[in-house]
Amino acid sequence: MVSSETHQQVAREIKDSLDRFKEGIPQLTELLEAFEELLVARSIARLEIPTPDLSTVEIDSMRFSQGSPILNDRKIDVDTGSVKKVALLIIPAMQKGFPKLHNALERFTNFIDNDNTAMNTLQLVLESGSRETMEELASRLDIPLSILQFICSELAKPFAEKLSGTLAPMIEGLTWLKGYCPICGSWPGLSVLRENEGKRFLTCSVCGHDWQYMRTQCPFCENADHEKLEIIFSQDRKSERAELCHVCKKYIVGIDTRDLINPPHPSTAPFGLIYLDFLAQDRGFSPGATLAISQDLTL
Ligand SMILES: [Zn+2]
Ligand SMILES: [Zn+2]
Repeated sequence: MVSSETHQQVAREIKDSLDRFKEGIPQLTELLEAFEELLVARSIARLEIPTPDLSTVEIDSMRFSQGSPILNDRKIDVDTGSVKKVALLIIPAMQKGFPKLHNALERFTNFIDNDNTAMNTLQLVLESGSRETMEELASRLDIPLSILQFICSELAKPFAEKLSGTLAPMIEGLTWLKGYCPICGSWPGLSVLRENEGKRFLTCSVCGHDWQYMRTQCPFCENADHEKLEIIFSQDRKSERAELCHVCKKYIVGIDTRDLINPPHPSTAPFGLIYLDFLAQDRGFSPGATLAISQDLTL
């Protein structure tokens, strides 16, 4: 059990970071408020999950250097005791932020509270991530598939983050030249410039791991021709940008933290930069990683 002081500190950092975005971009207030409790719950859930036992994990440095992520053939481990704990944090936060999901979340809560197969079923769904098991559960609970996917991806996220945080020290110092995550193999959702030299780091959209990557290369197709890469930004928020690739027509949003006194909390950045997603998508580009936000949920 992590102290409530730590919980409060995490909550404060996230809320402050969202407040700064709201102040700068008032049009995003409604959306950011919808996600606020969920982002706090996610971070607290991660603190509450016990550190996974990785004593059997071996890193094959040859395969790794050739671009094979560590979890390539493995699944995330989810223990049933923690699923319940995580659900008790995440579901009420979703209920507060997304009134449109009220009925679906009620049915989901009912399932957790009253069905004694619930935890094993959820463990299976979260660990396998398979569409088939998800579809089966969606029809059993009478919840639209896309909503169940949203719920389950939020439940799985703290486990993925906990696992990647525990694995990260094992690959420190090893070379990784790919645009996808060295731990789970997913695409990055955020590009961050930091340190004086402006080193570029990509942040995984699923497990939150970040790794250094070539500054002028598209992570999705490895195009390094700078004439085919473009950066767009809003004149009054120059440290925030969308990096467009004219070869694969994908983009990634990013932030240059070097001149920022208070860089945004990493979990809030994809939400505060959503206006750049709209700009890039208006230009015909699509996100390299699946966006965490479906407008449909809040509006
Ligand atoms: Zn990852
Ligand atoms: Zn590209």
